[in-house]
Amino acid sequence: MPRDHQPTVRIAIIGAGLAGMTVSSDMAKHADVSIFEKSRGLGGRMSTRYSVHFQFDHGAQFFTARSQSFQRFLEPFIANGTVREWKPRVVTLGDGKGIYNRAWFEPHYVASPRMTSLCNALTGTERLHLNTRIMGIKYEHRLWFLRDQSNNRYGPFDWLIATIPAPQAAAIVPEALAGYSTVAECRMSGCYSLMLGFHTALDLSWQAAVVKSSPIEWIAVDSAKPGRTLGYSLLAQTTRAWAEGHIDDEQILVQSTLLQELERLLPIPLTDPGVVQLHRWRYASAQPETERDYLIDHQLQLGVCGDWLIKGDVESAFLSARALTEQLRHCRLRRE
Ligand SMILES: Cc1cc2nc3c(=O)[nH]c(=O)nc-3n(C[C@H](O)[C@H](O)[C@H](O)COP(=O)(O)OP(=O)(O)OC[C@H]3O[C@@H](n4cnc5c(N)ncnc54)[C@H](O)[C@@H]3O)c2cc1C
Repeated sequence: MPRDHQPTVRIAIIGAGLAGMTVSSDMAKHADVSIFEKSRGLGGRMSTRYSVHFQFDHGAQFFTARSQSFQRFLEPFIANGTVREWKPRVVTLGDGKGIYNRAWFEPHYVASPRMTSLCNALTGTERLHLNTRIMGIKYEHRLWFLRDQSNNRYGPFDWLIATIPAPQAAAIVPEALAGYSTVAECRMSGCYSLMLGFHTALDLSWQAAVVKSSPIEWIAVDSAKPGRTLGYSLLAQTTRAWAEGHIDDEQILVQSTLLQELERLLPIPLTDPGVVQLHRWRYASAQPETERDYLIDHQLQLGVCGDWLIKGDVESAFLSARALTEQLRHCRLRRE
């Protein structure tokens, strides 16, 4: 080996949502990247659920791009159709004034043909460990080792980057992390998504509704988003406040309460949905009060990023990850 040859730095990333996949694709040229994801697919809270003839974006519904950095990142994906603008007729419901139009004043995007498509498009040369929930991490002789739910051990890694929701990160990262209190003090609230698939399309005059004065705050004709080819699907999401008050309720009761509420809100009967499913998000979003967009500890070679450090939306997940990788690329990545 030539004297000046530096062995490739090994980075472990926990979480394959947009933050994790952004770190992975940004660092691919500079490091040997391994990703650990507890679910069976990529996307995290930008994910898609399938049920025979239907698909549902049961997490993020759309995203906006207000920063130049995110706009530039999206450009190639918009050019190749992985990200498309969604232009539904949006209305407001439930405030006692009837149904009226609600204008969107900026582009609202979705990944196409499903929300997970954007994270899938960011894959490359990384080692991807799906269905792998990281239960513990250990720092030994300046190297990181990870342990999963089956007690498998992974490592060594030079750097570890956690891109998971704050309460999950707080349970894993050491208190010695510089800025640990930011992780420990961040509260995230839940949300329920009710998914309905119909064999016959409903006769609605709109594709999205912002709902007032109800446990439900959003309804979308999910199948009307660009590129969706499966059956007619409807998705309703609750307010964070309602979800918080019912987070540990029996899920069957939550489902029937939300179904009744949806029937009350819609101007037509919900004739015999073919599929009804409920998903509980325990950590849907944060109201961050943090002053940092990411955390980095050069001593421990440990980084933390994710939407919850900025604003709790898709663009924030990207911005937090990008800010962290810019910092990583400027420091001399060291392999022990
Ligand atoms: C119901 C709902 C509606 C939303 N609506 C919108 C919207 O309309 N617009 C918008 O911009 N944003 C919306 N958001 C927020 C948006 O989805 C998130 O801000 C964004 O997707 C967060 O990305 P992330 O990579 O930071 O985190 P995540 O997507 O949460 O990624 C973290 C990943 O880590 C994995 N993970 C967690 N713990 C472990 C572990 N121990 N081991 C291995 N893997 C682990 C998780 O499975 C997940 O895949 C919504 C979120 C929810 C839940």
